[in-house]
Amino acid sequence: MVSLKDVHKSFGDLKVLNGVSLDVMKGDVICIIGPSGSGKSTLIRCVNALNDIQQGSILVEGQEVNDPKLDKLELRKKVGMVFQQYNLFPHKTALQNVMMAPVRVLKQDRASAEAAARALIKKVRLEGKEDAFPGELSGGQQQRVAIARSLAMQPDVILFDEVTAALDPETVGEVLQTIKDLAEEGMTCILVTHEMAFAREVADHIYFTDRGVIVEHGPPGTFFTNAQDPRTKEFLSQIL
Ligand code: ADP
Ligand code: MG
Repeated sequence: MVSLKDVHKSFGDLKVLNGVSLDVMKGDVICIIGPSGSGKSTLIRCVNALNDIQQGSILVEGQEVNDPKLDKLELRKKVGMVFQQYNLFPHKTALQNVMMAPVRVLKQDRASAEAAARALIKKVRLEGKEDAFPGELSGGQQQRVAIARSLAMQPDVILFDEVTAALDPETVGEVLQTIKDLAEEGMTCILVTHEMAFAREVADHIYFTDRGVIVEHGPPGTFFTNAQDPRTKEFLSQIL
């Protein structure tokens, strides 16, 4: 589904990704963890072309993302993204927020877009909140609307960048549950997260990044119990 090979990315003189390779199969849940500033956000933003790259290859369903001729809108229909700051439209209801892109971008007729949006709001367990405005919802509820909004574009893979990091602790669990529901339905997910218990339970594969390289990776069983690299061990000892 997604394949990165030897990806290099700089901002001016600052090298942020120094030869990153990783592969994501359909239905996989991949967690990327690592210290702040290690390039995690940059890495996933490259996958939907929010960042360009200087060297290497990024394939999404066989298509080169780094190709200047690539249609970015088409790419972003396939690759959804959910951010730490959910950025809902404050003067639109939950339902309107979820319907907007399908109507405007996918040119769906309003009735079918609305039916699909209602089903998605139910899927993220917000039935009854269709007509609520973002300001009337908790952070966790707003983030679930943002996930529904991303799903409304019918993506093949979704990127999640620390989507629970800005939430009140009591609403983190419901957002993680929503992601878990998606994972169980077979949605391909690439997550940057600090939620180690979640990563351990839900991820198929974990990548640890430090200073723009993948230092260590593996399935959660081996990753958490048998980390080899001193940088991984140090990070885990601080966070677990
Ligand atoms: P992480 O998500 O792991 O915390 P980031 O990918 O956000 O790390 O950032 C990695 C490095 O790249 C940091 O040093 C950050 O300051 C820098 N960086 C990120 N985005 C930009 C940008 N648009 N312009 C310049 N530097 C950036
Ligand atoms: Mg980040």
